[in-house]
Amino acid sequence: MQRESHAIIMGGSLAGMLAARVLAKHFDRVSIVERDFFPEKPAPRPGIPQSRHLHILLTRGKIILEQLFPGLENELIAQGCSEVRSEVYRVV
Ligand SMILES: Cc1cc2nc3c(=O)[nH]c(=O)nc-3n(C[C@H](O)[C@H](O)[C@H](O)COP(=O)(O)OP(=O)(O)OC[C@H]3O[C@@H](n4cnc5c(N)ncnc54)[C@H](O)[C@@H]3O)c2cc1C
Repeated sequence: MQRESHAIIMGGSLAGMLAARVLAKHFDRVSIVERDFFPEKPAPRPGIPQSRHLHILLTRGKIILEQLFPGLENELIAQGCSEVRSEVYRVV
């Protein structure tokens, strides 16, 4: 009898969630162990003290995330993320 393969990920933030998405293709089961409770809506939580700060998703990361989660960019914008054009930061 073949045993079920099971990946266990510590921490359910960005790295943990992305690891889960990738490992789900290779393991029968993927579990995430997270010490926080996730809020119902996007909101800061104690396990990520930096979550109160402004975060920017750079283009390469956006491309990779969009491949893993098709439609994510539109979902992020619908949830209140703002698009920032890189030209804004160019020093003339
Ligand atoms: C001020 C600031 C600004 C930043 N701005 C940007 C930005 O603009 N763009 C960008 O790409 N990055 C930015 N970063 C970096 C970004 O926040 C981190 O790279 C990213 O959060 C790291 O993700 P992570 O999943 O590895 O870890 P984290 O997001 O730190 O998550 C760790 C997770 O592990 C959980 N955990 C911890 N210990 C345990 C345990 N013992 N058992 C179970 N769960 C546990 C925590 O609750 C948390 O959910 C910024 C960081 C800071 C501090």
